[in-house]
Amino acid sequence: MLANKTAVITGSTSGIGLGCARAFAEKGANVVINGLGDADEIEKTRAAIEADFGVRCTYSPANMLKGDEIAGMIADAEKEFGGVDILVNNAGIQFVSPVDEFPVDKWDAIIAINLTSAFHAIRAALPGMKSKGWGRIINTASAHALVASPYKSAYVAAKHGIAGLTKTVALEVAQQGITVNAICPGYVWTPLVEAQIPDTMKARNMTEEQVKNDVMLAAQPTKQFVTIEQVAGYAVFLCSDTASSITGSILPIDGGWTAH
Ligand code: NAD
Repeated sequence: MLANKTAVITGSTSGIGLGCARAFAEKGANVVINGLGDADEIEKTRAAIEADFGVRCTYSPANMLKGDEIAGMIADAEKEFGGVDILVNNAGIQFVSPVDEFPVDKWDAIIAINLTSAFHAIRAALPGMKSKGWGRIINTASAHALVASPYKSAYVAAKHGIAGLTKTVALEVAQQGITVNAICPGYVWTPLVEAQIPDTMKARNMTEEQVKNDVMLAAQPTKQFVTIEQVAGYAVFLCSDTASSITGSILPIDGGWTAH
């Protein structure tokens, strides 16, 4: 389905981004992975994508805090593969604190990585997509693009911001074969989430089930985590011809969270 396409996925050395990279590769796309982490581990991840799916996979170390490095990542991908057809703006970080105590450097980093990096990547990738008359931009937002939670002011502001960016760019390119959408996951079962369970059990004197249901899934009516594969499958669907009329949409995949 995606043979001869190239996908750049920011923040894809782990979690949802890596799931998207592998799902696109499974459909035949060449992929550029990006993110932080141990160099040997990243190389293993990159090589596994090539071995498992018979596509080409390169790694970009671009730091999502730096606009020039983000533009360089897109330019390198265009040079290497002849264009960027699919861009997934996925890199993200979180920090939790009351707003009046929120560290300024954390606010700046969250806005830069979770929001401004998408602007830089879109700005760099759009001219190539326009010249091909085809493109797919998918922004990994969050249920927090639609609703708020206390103590997450920077994250919620960045994710609401990415919803606005998604709609604006979608309108600008609506007649050029390019769709722009935001996927809004609820709580996703990632290694990062799994790793928080033992500490929370200890801190709150709870069982594993209580931590999952009463803390993590408190807002998620299904009481089921969203899976990485479900989010990645949604992203693949948005790249299909069937989805070509879906644009400017802020799309929840959140087990009913935002139905509250
Ligand atoms: P994760 O920590 O597994 O992945 C984040 C990725 O971003 C990693 O590859 C990391 O290296 C990269 N990254 C962080 N800072 C970077 C920087 N400065 N430069 C380049 N890369 C950087 O987390 P995840 O849960 O897979 O999150 C991915 C996206 O999904 C984020 O935007 C997050 O807000 C969103 N999201 C996650 C959940 C969830 O429950 N896990 C829910 C909703 C939305």
